[in-house]
Amino acid sequence: MSLEIENLEVRYGATRALRDVTCRVAEGEVLALIGANGAGKSTLLRAVAGVTPPRAGTIRVLGEDTSRRCAHEMARRGLRLVPEGRHLFDELTVAENLWMGAYRCRRETERNSAQLERVFELFPVLREFTGRRAGMLSGGQQQMVAIGRALMGRPRVLLLDEPSLGLAPRYVAQIMDVVGGLAADGITVVIAEQNASAALRSADRGIVLSNGRITHSGPARALLEGEDVSRHYLGVGADDGTRAGEPRRLTFALDRLDV
Ligand code: ATP
Repeated sequence: MSLEIENLEVRYGATRALRDVTCRVAEGEVLALIGANGAGKSTLLRAVAGVTPPRAGTIRVLGEDTSRRCAHEMARRGLRLVPEGRHLFDELTVAENLWMGAYRCRRETERNSAQLERVFELFPVLREFTGRRAGMLSGGQQQMVAIGRALMGRPRVLLLDEPSLGLAPRYVAQIMDVVGGLAADGITVVIAEQNASAALRSADRGIVLSNGRITHSGPARALLEGEDVSRHYLGVGADDGTRAGEPRRLTFALDRLDV
């Protein structure tokens, strides 16, 4: 198992952001973490990445108990978090941003150059923009740089926080396709998304968080089509215009604006 979480609890002062969270992610699996605003998705990613220490429970990454490890130790162990909002160096070029991700060895070694080539294979548009300042790119292209920068560290576990936020549909589809294919590189992915349908379509399994607890988990397809999750996640109820017993599906707006 790449990731094993048991009875995890995280608090911010009096706020219990996660409680009794237990889940496992196998090597090369893509797990979608879905849930409404404030459900605890980012907190779960941050706890795994060593940014937010848990109050209770255990986190094992690649077989090792990392519950008390801090973020830079986790990075050294092959874990990368792409935070919500991308956090690029706007004044630096695309190439410079990508090289930032080649953790501890930003020189042009053979392995780093090969990895850069892999990033360009995954996101061909970045090859054209290597000399452009990152701040000048569109939101979708910036997200590609953020993911590419994480990949430059050759991670074994990649955590993505809301990669589709604010992006045009074509970028969402492109990014989700790449994410879904990272298993071929042996990378385990956890993707936190409010855009549940996009995330579940590229994932193997999904977990629904609500108020810091896991309410549903299972194969991504089953969650995508399940009435129960649809009702839970969207808050679709008796007054939603559908008749009792009528199948409801997760339907999410993909027509967000790119910036
Ligand atoms: P979003 O999609 O809005 O980021 P989320 O599902 O990622 O939502 P979290 O950001 O993990 O949810 O937040 C979970 C809970 O913890 C919320 O009630 C939130 O208000 C609270 N919270 C998050 N960060 C902090 C913080 N730094 N200090 C205090 N409370 C926090």
